[in-house]
This record gives sequence, C-alpha cells and structure tokens, in this order.
Amino acid sequence: MKKVSKYLMLVLIAFIAIACNKQDPIDLRLTPNDYLSDKHYDKLTVELLYVEGHAPNAQAVDNLEAFLNERLNKPKGIYFIERSIPATGNHSFSISDIEDIEKAERTQYRNKRNLAAFIFYTDAEYAGNEGDSKTLGVQYGPSSMALFEPTIDEYSGGLGQVSEEKLQSAVLIHEFCHVLGLVNNGTKMQQDHEDYNNPYHCDNEDCLMYYASNTGDMLGILIQGERPELDQQCIDDLRANGGK
Ligand SMILES: [Zn+2]
Ligand SMILES: [Zn+2]
Repeated sequence: MKKVSKYLMLVLIAFIAIACNKQDPIDLRLTPNDYLSDKHYDKLTVELLYVEGHAPNAQAVDNLEAFLNERLNKPKGIYFIERSIPATGNHSFSISDIEDIEKAERTQYRNKRNLAAFIFYTDAEYAGNEGDSKTLGVQYGPSSMALFEPTIDEYSGGLGQVSEEKLQSAVLIHEFCHVLGLVNNGTKMQQDHEDYNNPYHCDNEDCLMYYASNTGDMLGILIQGERPELDQQCIDDLRANGGK
C-alpha cells in the first residue's frame, strides 16, 4: 500500500507538471475549433513519431482514435501514421529539444481541408523533472504533443502498477484535450469549472482533465477502475466549440 501511495504521488505530480505552453513554430494559427468542427478542416491525420524501442501502445492508440472519432467532426476521417527514428542519444528532453525534432522529422501538416497533429514519443525523460516530480506528457503547441515514454513505462505495466494501456491512454487523451482547448485553454467554458490553482484543468476530480487531488486517488482509480473520462462540463465545452 505504501508503494502504491508513493506512485500515486508521482503520477499526481506528473499530472500537475503537464505543461500548457503555447509555442508552435509551424501551425501557430490553428485553434481548438479547427480540430473540433468541420468548418475549415474535414479530415485529420495524427502523426505518431517514436524513437525505436519506444513504440506507442497499440491499444492506447486505438483508444485515442475512438475518443477522437467520438468527439471530433471529421467526416472525411481520422487517420494515424506511425514512424520511428533511431535513438536520439538525449539523456533528457526540454521543450526546445522536442521542437527541434519536430522541425526535422514532422511530415504531416495542415493542407487545404486536411488537418494534422503531431505526437512525439521520447526515449528519455522531461528535462524539467525534479526529484519525484515527473512529467508524463506535454502539449507544447496548438498541434503538438509529446509523451515521455520511459517515464510512463516506469510507472505502468509492473506488478501492482496500472497497465501500460490505461496510463498511456489517459496521458494521450489528456494531452489531446489540451489541443481541443480544455480547460479554458482556447475553448470557452460553458460553466466555470476551471481549477484556478492549476490552470487549464478541470475542477472535477473524477474528470480526465483533473490534474490531481490532495484526497483523490488517481492511480488507484486507474488501477482498480475504468480509465477516467471527460465529465459533462468538459464535453459541453467541446460541443459548444464545434465538437460532437
Ligand atoms: Zn494537463
Ligand atoms: Zn472536466
């Protein structure tokens, strides 16, 4: 039990540390509405770039795909492209390290009515980790996210740990929801439900967009129960901004 609460702490802190930094050298003008509605774009291609040996969990990608199909109006479809690059040699990644890889390796961009998103699976942890404060994922631009695969791997898949599928799915969908403008991150709130101590996150501890709780048990929920999903207030926000 002691071990579980330690991991819980790490995961909770990890969720705190998920940054919502808005810098995108490429698709700077994209908005959450572009992803949610079919007004400007009716097709989405999600490019998953991973370092060899750190491939995305296939079920987690399926879960992200199902989530996007459930919430996004993309009548021409949502497609995934996976490609790999050799080991980077990095011991850690800063946001600018990740941006450099994106600039060099990203192949999918918006084009006419086709929209794109980019997700990079690193082969080393986040450079900003301090002590037990570990970041699992980051959304660093309007169309750009990264998952720190070695850190996710460290906290999932082992005895007494959450499954890799569940943790990776939660991080993937959580980060994509920041691209979709949650919470108060480009998609207007229908009712005030932002956690003002932790901007851009939901104040409902049962919601996927909740960051952490002093009394909640996010890892316990992940181990014992279903993956956390969006609550009604987050869904209402997405719908009001063109989503399903
Ligand atoms: Zn977040
Ligand atoms: Zn919520």
